[in-house]
Amino acid sequence: MLINADLHIHSRFSMASSKDMVINNIVPQAKLKGLQLMGTGDGFHLSWLNIVEESTTYSGDGIYSKKSCDFILTAEVEAKNRIHHLFIIPNIEIAREISERLSSKNKDVDGRPRVDMDGCEIKDLARDYGCLFGPAHAFTPWTGMYKTYASVYDCYHGKPDFLELGLSADSNMADRVKELQNIPFLTNSDAHSPWPHRLGREFNQIEMEDISFSSLRKGIKNNEIKANHGLIPNLGKYHMTACTKCYQLMDPLFAKENKMKCDCGGIIKKGVDFRISEIADWDKPHHPSHRPPYIHLMPLAEVIGMTYNKGVTTKTVQNIWKKLIREFNNEIDVLIKVPLSKIDEIDDGVSIAIKAFRDKSIHIAPGGGGKYGEISLDDVSNKEIKFKKRKQLTLDNFN
Ligand SMILES: [Zn+2]
Ligand SMILES: [Zn+2]
Repeated sequence: MLINADLHIHSRFSMASSKDMVINNIVPQAKLKGLQLMGTGDGFHLSWLNIVEESTTYSGDGIYSKKSCDFILTAEVEAKNRIHHLFIIPNIEIAREISERLSSKNKDVDGRPRVDMDGCEIKDLARDYGCLFGPAHAFTPWTGMYKTYASVYDCYHGKPDFLELGLSADSNMADRVKELQNIPFLTNSDAHSPWPHRLGREFNQIEMEDISFSSLRKGIKNNEIKANHGLIPNLGKYHMTACTKCYQLMDPLFAKENKMKCDCGGIIKKGVDFRISEIADWDKPHHPSHRPPYIHLMPLAEVIGMTYNKGVTTKTVQNIWKKLIREFNNEIDVLIKVPLSKIDEIDDGVSIAIKAFRDKSIHIAPGGGGKYGEISLDDVSNKEIKFKKRKQLTLDNFN
């Protein structure tokens, strides 16, 4: 069966995470987003593991269930060189055991523990306990594996089980790198809150025999990922090279000449787009035969927010979002499938925006330096001037 899975989120115990990130809030939101399997995130945090255990029933083989939602244990660690690695863990007992073994000063206070391990030690730890592992948001400039290494093999001295693309990249970009041809790609939300524009904003569709750790392992190992759903990479907050303080987009070569310092005094961070061009072997993607399609999305709540010029978490936006989901089942269908005439009956403003999304006439001021990309309709006068100041890119990557 095909399972929609978002395998990387953070609980309320992670830094900068919403206090609402608890099982009871995640379950209904996952259902609305059409996700059947969620990673718990923060799987090495003992208090979070207790909450997971208390809030769910154990269904066997590493699956913790609550109503329509199944959870599997996942965790992100920050290791040597500030590189983030993602673990998928066989069960809660193993998660506790690894947590005990981790030498980390902050593991009791932060859901994402800092450890002094290199890639090899991360790989060995994962192998010792039968976990799946791989680099999280592999190309991002602060904590992605490729910010330090030119090759995934230099980091792990072996092949990781998967590579998480991160919000600022897609498989068209990553398949320009030859060494990634035989590594499965994961697309996960890395959500820090349960809001619908965060949770499940990226997810994987995986062919699994049943919902269990063994089936997920098989699915990933045997390239049974059938689709990656993810943001148009321009929307990611590290897509372009930009200043981390004033968010001005920069030409990467100009930034290098200026020693990655902005006029405003801020630090410039290299965009994922440019980092991939540095390590790429090919100008165009070479998709291996096992690579699934990458379905480009933008959060429906943001499309509604743009239409009404209102914040994504406002009542207006959330009510329209819920109405559309109730009527048409899930966000992907609203964005991609449902006839515009039907959406028109519910909300004629939103249908114009969705039409623009579908025919690719929607404009994106690309993200960079830690600021998400922003969408706007062409020639729409109600958008602030900042869109006009920023470079409007073509949607070459968007198909
Ligand atoms: Zn991370
Ligand atoms: Zn600046």
